[in-house]
Amino acid sequence: MTRTAIVTGAARGIGAATAIRLAAEGHAVGVLDLDEAACADTVSAITEACGRAIAVGANVADGAAVAAAVARVAEELGAPTILVNNAGIIRDNLLFKMSEDDWDAVLGVHLRGAFLMSREVQKHQVEAGWGRIVNLSSTSALGNRGQANYSAAKAGMQGFTKTLAIELGRYGVTANAIAPGFIVSDMTRATAERMGVSFDEFVGHMVADIPVARAGEPGDIANAVAFFCSEAAGFVSGQVLYVAGGPKA
Ligand code: NDP
Repeated sequence: MTRTAIVTGAARGIGAATAIRLAAEGHAVGVLDLDEAACADTVSAITEACGRAIAVGANVADGAAVAAAVARVAEELGAPTILVNNAGIIRDNLLFKMSEDDWDAVLGVHLRGAFLMSREVQKHQVEAGWGRIVNLSSTSALGNRGQANYSAAKAGMQGFTKTLAIELGRYGVTANAIAPGFIVSDMTRATAERMGVSFDEFVGHMVADIPVARAGEPGDIANAVAFFCSEAAGFVSGQVLYVAGGPKA
């Protein structure tokens, strides 16, 4: 069955791979990111493969922008019943050097953003009696040096997900979280830069601790998202799936 999906932070990285994957499953996709023009590549990858997609510019932490974005997707592609809360930023620093702005910005995009998007999209899901919400957590939820803000946000995503699962289950809506390990993207490139090492060196260092002995790719996460969004996953809700090339607690 074909649905309408919204993927946030879909201009690049994991979000772009996820949007393209959901379109390949037959869904129409609202490709949402801060800058509408930056979504062009993801949208053309979908339309060139005969899928349906539109670019939507919105800051997920801004309530009015979120309401307008969801309304636009509903009007142009049909009521959105699949939501992937993927938009994210990092502002890493050790606790004693972390500014209030670094704290607020990270919690704002991940937690407030996922809250605002989910609150807006659930109206359409409840009306349809069907829905899928997938939230991007991280292995950093288990704690990671230099990421007090990010790990708090990513652990928060897990509690948020479980509560959505409890509240929305009776309306046919499932909510699950994916906690990626090390994935090659602009975000991890920025981490290498901050640490003052080349990306190749950084990848080598990270891969040494990954049981499957390779770095993750955005497509690895998109595959897991596609499962949670499928009709077949209707009895799977409130779960956190670590997609990290090995076991995580
Ligand atoms: P990227 O930095 O490559 O992409 C994130 C996207 O989110 C960017 O296009 C960015 O836009 C967009 N974005 C940022 N802030 C907002 C906002 N306020 N509103 C709308 N869009 C926004 O990240 P990844 O693809 O690596 O990560 C995707 C998700 O996966 C994130 O939630 C991340 O925390 C999580 N994750 C990633 C891991 C990894 O190893 N890469 C590991 C674990 C989790 P812009 O370019 O304009 O800033």
